[in-house]
Amino acid sequence: MTEPTTETDSIPPNLVKVKKSDLPLACPRETDSASELHPRVFLPLKNPGDTASCRYCRTRYQVEG
Ligand SMILES: [Zn+2]
Repeated sequence: MTEPTTETDSIPPNLVKVKKSDLPLACPRETDSASELHPRVFLPLKNPGDTASCRYCRTRYQVEG
């Protein structure tokens, strides 16, 4: 299902907060710089507090509550 996470207490520097209105979220986002471009993937974010990491650029996204 979901990958086990043991790092909930430490926020990685590349954590990106998104709003629920941004969902469904795809990475790269339209606002991302061209240098970050990779095949577009959708992240399974649904509820406030949910986090997901992009498999390509490792950017971690979190939905704001
Ligand atoms: Zn990405």
